[in-house]
Amino acid sequence: MSVLSPNTPTAELQRIDAAHHMHPFTHNQGLADKGARVITRANGCWLTDSNGNRMLDGMAGLWCVNVGYGRTELADAAHRQMLELPFYNTFFQTTHIPALALAQRLAELAPGDLNHVFFAGSGSEANDTNLRMVRTYWSEKGQPERQIIISRWNGYHGSTVGSGSLGGMKGMHEQGGMPIPGIHHINQPNWWLEGGDMTPEEFGLARARELEEAIEELGPDKVAAFIAEPIQGAGGVIIPPETYWPEIQRIVDKYGILLIADEVICAFGRTGNWFGSQTMGIRPHIMTIAKGLSSGYQPIGGSIVCDEVAEVIDATEFNHGYTYSGHPVACAVALENLRILDEEGIVTRVREETAPYLKERFETLTDHPMVGEAKIVGMMGSIALTPDKAARAPFASDAGTVGYLCRERCFNNNLVMRHVYDRMIISPPLIISREEIDTLIERAWQSLDETMAEAK
Ligand code: PLP
Repeated sequence: MSVLSPNTPTAELQRIDAAHHMHPFTHNQGLADKGARVITRANGCWLTDSNGNRMLDGMAGLWCVNVGYGRTELADAAHRQMLELPFYNTFFQTTHIPALALAQRLAELAPGDLNHVFFAGSGSEANDTNLRMVRTYWSEKGQPERQIIISRWNGYHGSTVGSGSLGGMKGMHEQGGMPIPGIHHINQPNWWLEGGDMTPEEFGLARARELEEAIEELGPDKVAAFIAEPIQGAGGVIIPPETYWPEIQRIVDKYGILLIADEVICAFGRTGNWFGSQTMGIRPHIMTIAKGLSSGYQPIGGSIVCDEVAEVIDATEFNHGYTYSGHPVACAVALENLRILDEEGIVTRVREETAPYLKERFETLTDHPMVGEAKIVGMMGSIALTPDKAARAPFASDAGTVGYLCRERCFNNNLVMRHVYDRMIISPPLIISREEIDTLIERAWQSLDETMAEAK
């Protein structure tokens, strides 16, 4: 076996990758022709690839590297924990200090009476936990017929069979027998694409009221929960109109169903508060967390659960858990990451300084002839690409072709942005500086110019 390193020629790394590595959410055959980009190292907000290019990471990895790359404190925390206790499980009445300390810290940070944490290895696993937990909750309360979970088309909750079913990605549902029974999807609050002649406020109310209509149609005694991301991330950073969430909260309260806020992207400073639910003014019974919990330095996720639900679940044996629930190394790293976010005032700085500056700069992109709207909350934003701003029209080419071109132009200009169909997304590390924000906007503008020339 050859020893591979960043000094191995890129073509050789790509050849091996294409021969043996099956990538997630990728047309793998295409990689054999083109070759994957090989990322070799990173620091702060910057990635380096095997050709020596330095790229500004406008996506914080996959929406997760909140404190930025290269934090030695996180490596040290992992090292210390590996020497002390690299693994022990939390099944069968055992625990360890990293898991209980992280659970305590999350209970302190989370709003209201969200005081209990069930750990998982990822956001997908955590949403599978939620699915089983809310159904078990209602069964234990003597209402076993309350099994249906309502979620949204174009929402994303993960890639396991359970979480992929909760999600509303039709392309995923087409493969592998999803959705599982008992999940009902309603429409998303995407005004730009689907709002027609309504004002954003009218549209926000109309889309929220689809929840009430669905509950009435399915039967109020059959619905267990509603799950949604405070701001849809993978669906294209869809920021709902201001009327949306207050109406959803009213409906959830009226029917007494559980509200699950999927905070996998929105939490840990991404929206300018510790949790997106605080930014959107909602009161969930359960929050799903992952990604920014460890800034992606270790795989870890979980569910933060309110007193009422935890009390009912704790009164029975919940036959559920993962080998890596509360993995000590992941917990130790997450704790250290939360310390950095807190003690360095990163969340506050996002809210008070960086996000307002980013918003000001990001919104100038609407001056570009190809940009219809630029929407941003905290450090997550998106622009809609369009050939006709007034009509909010999509491009005539296949949905996503122009977005794909634009993403490739961004890469060529050493900027990582993601596209979802013809929306371009940013979600940078929370430590991004004003100068780096300027660079991001300049490179985005240049990439838009080049895309426009190419798309004609
Ligand atoms: N929920 C949301 C809102 C996400 O954005 C994601 C991942 O992007 C997930 C769940 C799934 O998390 P993971 O990829 O860690 O399983």
